[in-house]
Amino acid sequence: MKKYVILIVIISSILIALAFFFFAPAKFEFKKGKTIELNYGEKYKEPGFKVTKFGKDYTEKVKIENKINFKKIGEYEIIYKVKINGITFKDKRIVKVIDKEKPIITLNGEKNITICPQTEYKEEGYKAVDDYDKDITSKVKTTKQDNKIIYYVKDSSGNKSQIIRTITKEDKTAPNITLSGNKAITLYLGSTWKESGYKAIDNCDNDITSNVVISGSVNTNKIGSYKITYTVKDKSGNQTIVERIVKIINKPISTNSSSTKKGVIYLTFDDGPNEGTTNIILDILKEEGVKATFFVTNKGPDYLIKREYNEGHTVALHTASHNYATVYKSVNDYYNDLFKVQDRVKRITGQTSKIIRFPGGSSNTISKRYSKGIMTTLTKDVVNKGYKYYDWNIDSDDAGSTTTSTGVYNNVIKYLSKNRSNMILMHDIKPHTRDALKNIIRYGKNNGYTFEKITMSTPMITHGVNN
Ligand code: ZN
Repeated sequence: MKKYVILIVIISSILIALAFFFFAPAKFEFKKGKTIELNYGEKYKEPGFKVTKFGKDYTEKVKIENKINFKKIGEYEIIYKVKINGITFKDKRIVKVIDKEKPIITLNGEKNITICPQTEYKEEGYKAVDDYDKDITSKVKTTKQDNKIIYYVKDSSGNKSQIIRTITKEDKTAPNITLSGNKAITLYLGSTWKESGYKAIDNCDNDITSNVVISGSVNTNKIGSYKITYTVKDKSGNQTIVERIVKIINKPISTNSSSTKKGVIYLTFDDGPNEGTTNIILDILKEEGVKATFFVTNKGPDYLIKREYNEGHTVALHTASHNYATVYKSVNDYYNDLFKVQDRVKRITGQTSKIIRFPGGSSNTISKRYSKGIMTTLTKDVVNKGYKYYDWNIDSDDAGSTTTSTGVYNNVIKYLSKNRSNMILMHDIKPHTRDALKNIIRYGKNNGYTFEKITMSTPMITHGVNN
């Protein structure tokens, strides 16, 4: 009896030991752990594993079942199976396919926008795209915060994105003023000046023509250059100023062309003589072999008048004082003044000159201030007394706003004409005239003009009388 018991115990122990040996589990070891996260779209790559049982390596015999769908977010299992001595052992790894990518928001239009004050920003649109959810534009939430618009979106996996658009309200662009008509206008003395119009447009305020402030005025009865200023400001204080220049000049002079010589230039110099200019002018005339006419006053040294006469020029009379208040006070006052310079010339040259030029020309209006109608009287009376008076048909403007030799030169040659006599008004007291003279003479010579001095047989060139 005892023997059986012992036998049974022994057999049972052997069976248990065998069973333990065969059924004891294999040992699975996984590199990188039993749970792996895989980014959506990423391919699974086996990180490696090892299977052993009682120290023996069965890794080579393992079969793997892999049912991962990379294109779908979820949890997948990879089954590792191995058959050892007819018994199958298995283990698994969990693979989580997840979406970690943030959606991308794109804005139509600029990210930082400047708009006019007093206007509202009009949304230009946006788009949100997620790698997994695709178009999620409809899920975008927009919020306004101060001068910012915040665009926010979350994908189905909870990944968040936001983008900010900044709206700046300011106007740094000045308005634009456009003038109708020319920016530089030339009108004749006594004509009418009428504003030819303007327009002011601002990038933010649109038409602000009614805000334009005009300053400056034009006196069409006075020769000169007048500036009219147009100023406008937009609501943001940006200012624009433009200018228009209106130049009032003497009327063109109509002369009796049939009796005058064509293509002749009469160089005439008023208000001298004057040390420093007249002497140089005489030098140039001598060099160039050209004769001219000097309408002298009582100013300057005698020797220059003597030179004018000796060198073959015409010494003519302009009045002694050249003072409008004195000269045009009355007909008698005019003659008294004229006789004074006539006497001076006679004393220096021995000649009685009867060639005259009225201060301001016969068309002057300044004489109105001192004696109404005096020019009407004088222009007839001097002729009756045997004088000849000469105005001009080209004004060099050297006593006006022209103060450079280039300016004097241009004013003269611009109006030279071959179809008439050219009576040029200049002043030998002006340095810019002195400096322009040589070029004027050269131009005349090169273009076939001849130069003459005024004599008693030169036909009068006269303006219309305005007083
Ligand atoms: Zn003068």
